[in-house]
Amino acid sequence: MLMKNLKWAKDAFIHAEQVYPEECCGLIIREENEVIYWKCKNISKAYKEKSFVIDPIDYARGEDKGEVLGIVHSHPDGELAFSHTDRMACKYLDLPFYLVEPKSESIIVIYPSEIND
Ligand SMILES: [Zn+2]
Repeated sequence: MLMKNLKWAKDAFIHAEQVYPEECCGLIIREENEVIYWKCKNISKAYKEKSFVIDPIDYARGEDKGEVLGIVHSHPDGELAFSHTDRMACKYLDLPFYLVEPKSESIIVIYPSEIND
């Protein structure tokens, strides 16, 4: 997906590298005329290398900035593919999910409407 020139994507790649080997998580937010990456803390109690839970305070602060357009996370050493849990969360939250891979500057996206399982 050719998104690597987008500002939010660059910021998401930087965040993914900063928190490596843990999964990064964040929001894509439309703030007035700009689309920004809003970094959130991963508060997963399990393995942050394999899972993410967005800090609800960070999420709420993001929502205050503007419209939430999507959820971003990374799979630090894993595949660039959505897990079953990711797909369920995407459908449940009813927001597009983006998976970022800073090494290859790749991004994939899935929309709730694509999920039927
Ligand atoms: Zn995932």
